Amino acid sequence: MHNPSPALDWLDAAAADRRARHLHRELRPRAASDGVIDLASNDYLGLGTHPEVVQGAIDATHRFGAGATGSRLVTGTTADHLALESELAAFTGHTSGLAFSSGYTANLGAVVALSGKGSLIVSDGGSHASLVDACRLSRADVVVVPRGDAAAVERALRGRSVERALVVTDSVYSADGDLAPLVALHAACERHGAVLLVDEAHGLGVRGAGGRGLVDEVGLTRHENVVVTATLSKALGAQGGVVLGSERVRDHLIDTARTFIFDTGLAPASVGAARAALAVLRREPERAARVLEVAEHLAAVTGADRPSSAVVSVILGDAERAYAASVRCAELGLRVGCFRPPSVPEGTARLRLTARADISGADLDAASDVLTRVLTEHGSGVADSALAGA
Ligand code: PMP
Repeated sequence: MHNPSPALDWLDAAAADRRARHLHRELRPRAASDGVIDLASNDYLGLGTHPEVVQGAIDATHRFGAGATGSRLVTGTTADHLALESELAAFTGHTSGLAFSSGYTANLGAVVALSGKGSLIVSDGGSHASLVDACRLSRADVVVVPRGDAAAVERALRGRSVERALVVTDSVYSADGDLAPLVALHAACERHGAVLLVDEAHGLGVRGAGGRGLVDEVGLTRHENVVVTATLSKALGAQGGVVLGSERVRDHLIDTARTFIFDTGLAPASVGAARAALAVLRREPERAARVLEVAEHLAAVTGADRPSSAVVSVILGDAERAYAASVRCAELGLRVGCFRPPSVPEGTARLRLTARADISGADLDAASDVLTRVLTEHGSGVADSALAGA
């Protein structure tokens, strides 16, 4: 038991303020199997518990141990790390890949290594927190443009006084699940000698032929000035991150990306799981299409906008209502995400549903019934108008 320190008394006022604004957060442990229907996790393709994926983690752990034992440049690289990198690159249509301990560290490492003092970063306003933090770490001049606004990106690039420029964006926006205008962003980069870094955290395994990602779907993989980052923790059901691009981008990151050099390498279990998941996805490409079908069904039930990814965003407005609705879903046996400010803009608190390719018909029906009931009790705006006709 700690002796309370007055130096930390300010935490009480900060916590009271968050509570008053319904922005406090709670950790809710997930049981191994509790009969709850899960529409909150990022395990979009149901690969996290797939027997081959679990076995991949076990086999790698038996061979190499529980941890990576060191940083990638010392003892933390196994032949399996290199195989995973090649396989991910081949799958997504890039020349090479470099694995990081998470998607977060992949973004921090890649953005900082490809920018720096005396360069410009143009950051899309919808970018994930890890890209926002990467911009802050980079010491570059950072211009944040409105979400999805390629004309604003073009203006920022055209008006710059520095030579080097990097544009960063999610491919699938993580809170809303809609798509960034990658082709227009890339065209602006081509016209103004810039590099486009695209975070495919929510695109890999969901968009593109067999889940190859949105960058592949829109035909941008052969351009060296398109660098892709992704997490292995969503559609692939494992853990870790990757940067995909050309050989010289990879070499540059190995030499300079601080989150690669100073971080312990990706754990063998995560490498083994991700490789097995990729093998399943290659063999069963229909999983990617199925997740979009399930998302469309959930959107039809909730009145959410037609989804472009696994993410279905049911906007309820204020944080208290969204929180209460998510708690009610849990009481009725359905786990959903609840996104509130600062994760989303003020006044757009929401239930965030994530579709899963492996949900059974019976569970989808049961989830739909719960959502209809909870939105009748707590809904507003979009949800009300959709339910009026139901
Ligand atoms: N980028 C985006 C768009 C994400 O949604 C996330 C995960 N929430 C990350 C990066 C970070 O990936 P990881 O969880 O592997 O660190």
